[in-house]
Amino acid sequence: MIYCRDILGKDISKPQDMAVIRQEGLILQKCPRAINISIEILEDMLKDHLKDMTESSIKPEDIPQNDEMESVLKSMGRLRRFNRNARNLLYSSSKGVAFIQFDIRKFKIINDLYGEKFGDEVLDFIISQLKEICHSEQYYINLHSDVFMVVTEYDREEELTEFTRQLDARVSNYKNVKLQLSYGIYTVEDKKMELRQMSDRAAMTRKAVKNSLLTNVLFYREQFKELLYNRKFIEENMQAAVTERQFMMYLQPKYSISHNTIVGAEALARWRHPERGMIYPDQFIPIIEENGFIKKVDYYIWEEACRFIRNCVDAGIPDCPVSVNVSRVHLKDNECIQVLSELIEKYDIPKPLLELEITETANDQQVSRKAMQLKEEGYTLLMDDFGSGYSSLNILLETPFDVIKLDKKFMDNMIVSDKGRILLEQVVLMANRLDLDIVAEGVETKEQVELLRNIGCDKVQGYYYDKPMPEEEFFKKLKGARQ
Ligand code: C2E
Ligand code: CA
Ligand code: CA
Repeated sequence: MIYCRDILGKDISKPQDMAVIRQEGLILQKCPRAINISIEILEDMLKDHLKDMTESSIKPEDIPQNDEMESVLKSMGRLRRFNRNARNLLYSSSKGVAFIQFDIRKFKIINDLYGEKFGDEVLDFIISQLKEICHSEQYYINLHSDVFMVVTEYDREEELTEFTRQLDARVSNYKNVKLQLSYGIYTVEDKKMELRQMSDRAAMTRKAVKNSLLTNVLFYREQFKELLYNRKFIEENMQAAVTERQFMMYLQPKYSISHNTIVGAEALARWRHPERGMIYPDQFIPIIEENGFIKKVDYYIWEEACRFIRNCVDAGIPDCPVSVNVSRVHLKDNECIQVLSELIEKYDIPKPLLELEITETANDQQVSRKAMQLKEEGYTLLMDDFGSGYSSLNILLETPFDVIKLDKKFMDNMIVSDKGRILLEQVVLMANRLDLDIVAEGVETKEQVELLRNIGCDKVQGYYYDKPMPEEEFFKKLKGARQ
């Protein structure tokens, strides 16, 4: 067995060695292909060590000094001070006490786009604003990276949301870069509870708020238990759902505006549970993506789509491609290529009729590599949710996508502002230049259809035309349209 310490000459289980490893960039030097994720894991370990050290008996003077260590010690000192202040507040205040934890949405992307120096400036800017708005009984800390915490007294919960609004107003824009904060608030019920637990609850709420489209502030509530129960339900029932064929394929038509006819469809998963009724993808896909079970569901939907395509071809409709979603989980291995070619063969369908939707992600290279392979196999590739984040433009230049699916965000913005419309126009222009086809998603109104028509985007998918529907219903519609 080869140990890390043999390669790096340092022991990663010792914080002081870890500091040297990071400072000297030893991992990337010795293992240039080390993926970022492992570096993240190491950084998390360092954070954990830090936590342990602050709570254990190791004294700062026991640890060798260097620049990195100095900053580690400083942050330990800050954390100790913050914890002491929080404990005092909990002990002495006759009012309520709350922990507000927040971070910056997509901070990693800000770092990538503008550089780490700019990222650090942003963090300093936030600290300076906290300094100005926090009064003497409010304490703040930059826990790590872009995660901050404030502990404060309060009488009414509105005061806490007011605090977040006040901070939002100050930091929503730094040097013309838009900043959005996500807040998780934990209002302490039992002041004797461990500080760590209070902080964990605030952290859990901060993470949960990221799933919300409606708000950037969430309070920890007992409802969180609901979320956990929900997760447990899905994990316990997903296997049976496959064997008992509770997953179903719905199809949402894609239309050509100019021809006013169906030009394809997207296959979307639905889970019809015998007791719970219909469960929508947003409720189960993120969970089964985490545990890898999505592969099974995708394979099932892909097979349903192939079977459907075969039926269409048999019914004399050879011109209705169906796109299926390819979860990012498939990007990690080659199994999906094998599965797809088996399905194509089993149902004997022309490859161009099965289209693949891949969502842009932060990990461009992984997407590029897989897209390249799939392209070589002869599949039509659609980039899903284009414009919803990440470095869409790079990936377009590097990877052989055939179609981009404009995220619903574009549709929403084009209606509310000129800027939104101009941006959309430019994207359509660029796609034309790059010889890419476009489908606009989430089209809900006539006004949007007209605007799209004017800027030369002909293919659309959205509630304005049709919602996703069971395959029989779609088949009837398609047959009607082709007659
Ligand atoms: P998506 O791939 O972006 O699919 C489009 C989603 O937008 C669908 O939601 C669709 O019902 C919804 N939609 C379509 N037109 C409109 C509109 O005009 N207005 C609004 N508000 N929504 C519209 P759905 O079916 O709930 O799926 C949500 C997401 O779950 C999908 O987003 C996709 O990422 C994922 N998903 C669904 N089925 C599968 C699947 O079989 N495999 C994988 N890996 N992911 C799936
Ligand atoms: Ca999709
Ligand atoms: Ca989409």
